[in-house]
Amino acid sequence: MSRIYAYVGPPEIRRAVADTPAGVEIRAPADLLGWARAQPEWDADTLTATFVVTLAGVLRVAPRRSEHVACAGGQAVLAAGELTLRAEPELAVEGVTNQSTGYCPEPACWSAILPRLEALGVPHPAELTRAFVFRRCPACGERNVVKEGWFVCDLCGADLPAHWNFADSGEAH
Ligand SMILES: [Zn+2]
Repeated sequence: MSRIYAYVGPPEIRRAVADTPAGVEIRAPADLLGWARAQPEWDADTLTATFVVTLAGVLRVAPRRSEHVACAGGQAVLAAGELTLRAEPELAVEGVTNQSTGYCPEPACWSAILPRLEALGVPHPAELTRAFVFRRCPACGERNVVKEGWFVCDLCGADLPAHWNFADSGEAH
């Protein structure tokens, strides 16, 4: 069972991107390569993109500068993060992370990503190449990335819980 991740970022960001088109659906390697080649930052070698896996199990990508909530068309997701593509000598997904402060997904969202990569049929990593650990501060509400096992809020110094705690948290206040 995959967890469903609701958007947990600031409401004003969601509002600001409400009219932005959702990310491009990737159903075949040609979709991915075609999309990459159309990006101004494409250097014919590697490219890092924002991605989500939608509730329908569809991989969508958008330029890295995009908000995940825009990539997802404002909807909840099964996974979110960044993908790094490499074009040569063959198209491959070289890196996958769960880095999304909009959705703060658990590293376990990999289980929703892997089937999409398998279906795509391009070489890909066997696990997240970098796993981010997100916690919401119970004292001040700040979304934190836990670094090196240090479970302390960056903003207010309160202790962060040992377990992922964004479920039912809704939007930030
Ligand atoms: Zn705090």
